[in-house]
Amino acid sequence: MVTMKSRVNASLVFILIVIFPCASVLSASADFDFFYFVQQWPGSYCDTKKSCCYPTTGKPAADFGIHGLWPNYEDGTYPSNCDDNSPFDKSTISDLISNMRKSWPTLACPSGTGEAFWEHEWEKHGTCSESVLDQHDYFKTTLGLKQQTNILQALKTAGINPDGGSYSLESIKDAIKEGTGFDPWIECNTDESGNTQLYQVYLCVDRSGSKLIECPVKPRGRKCGSEIEFPSF
Ligand code: 5GP
Ligand code: 5GP
Repeated sequence: MVTMKSRVNASLVFILIVIFPCASVLSASADFDFFYFVQQWPGSYCDTKKSCCYPTTGKPAADFGIHGLWPNYEDGTYPSNCDDNSPFDKSTISDLISNMRKSWPTLACPSGTGEAFWEHEWEKHGTCSESVLDQHDYFKTTLGLKQQTNILQALKTAGINPDGGSYSLESIKDAIKEGTGFDPWIECNTDESGNTQLYQVYLCVDRSGSKLIECPVKPRGRKCGSEIEFPSF
């Protein structure tokens, strides 16, 4: 005779043997090895045929802005959009908003407050590192990395200024290595006349989001020539 107790036991066995391992496989596939921390030069974002729009809160400072903190695998692939049940929620980062506006401004058109950009970054990338950083910590950690790396200062110290001049790619990499202690990867784009220019700087960060590391694998962005322009903004 099948008793109530044995039915409960059978359900438990089903959960333990069938559902639990499936759930852990799903969460493992959304795991990651390290982060790319990506910053963009606003002058180069704007200085293309696509142009740009300043945020509704005003023209950003002439400084690198955050693009994102992207979980990645050591084989160069990466997870994205890992959790549909974790939407961007501005109320979780209300204490960070004024710093977000300064350090993570949007330059896409039409003009926005930045929320659409932050929402995109959280949903595409942030949800893939939720096992380590919840939404508040994800944004707070990213803001902290920008302050910690201070790459514009590192470049200026080496005499590399956003003045529309041309600088060797090696001198730019050396200056950022000198300032941060780690080799950056530089991505270029092209201005309206077709000159390559300094667009994004990639640094790598350990799984906890707390320590810069040497990049385990090169990112995929567009490469630079040996001499590149550093446009003003
Ligand atoms: P793009 O094709 O402009 O280089 O990249 C488009 C978008 O794909 C990036 O903004 C980013 O969201 C994602 N992406 C591109 N390359 C990488 C990568 O190497 N790692 C991760 N995690 N995301 C990337
Ligand atoms: P990703 O390239 O990270 O996948 O996506 C960037 C998305 O955010 C694009 O849809 C882009 O239109 C939007 N976006 C909004 N503001 C910015 C910005 O200032 N820079 C970049 N790169 N993308 C932005």
